[in-house]
Amino acid sequence: MKHGQLVELNVCDNLGDHLIGNVYAKFKTESEAEKALKALNGKYYNDKQVQCEYSPVTNFKECRCRQYEEGSCGRGGFCNFLHLKYVSKKFQKSLFDQMYAEHPEYEKRRSSERKRKRHRRSDSESSLDSFDSFKRRKIIEQWNRRWESQKMKDRERRRRSNSQERRRSFERKLSEDRNNYI
Ligand SMILES: [Zn+2]
Repeated sequence: MKHGQLVELNVCDNLGDHLIGNVYAKFKTESEAEKALKALNGKYYNDKQVQCEYSPVTNFKECRCRQYEEGSCGRGGFCNFLHLKYVSKKFQKSLFDQMYAEHPEYEKRRSSERKRKRHRRSDSESSLDSFDSFKRRKIIEQWNRRWESQKMKDRERRRRSNSQERRRSFERKLSEDRNNYI
């Protein structure tokens, strides 16, 4: 929440490899999503490391398993539609209330946006929502590629600075040893 205004938060109950442990966070703007992704990636929660990427899903209603919500999905945990953990309306409200209390600026933006929307109804929430799903997928793929290459560069930089640090400490130790001999 501190990285940007959350619009939606979905936690998967699925067991399939590509869905297990997934949490989908939808932010108000793309730059907020980017900020959150960079801040959270690699962090540990309950000894589990978080891996972030941009998701091509913007409309979760389309991906939810309707049978699961009616209690009749025969595919169980390995279903390919989202089995979202049930969160009570009351708890959802308390989470969002907390967010708006901590970040009054979010609320302001939301109400001004609502006002704008009333005037121009054809406006879509974000630029991504207005694209068709094919174009949206392409854009998100592009973002993920950029994000992958950035992560790789960061890793490379860290590796290099680590080995430099090791060499420096080795040289330090060497000169200390030499001083001890002299
Ligand atoms: Zn299902």
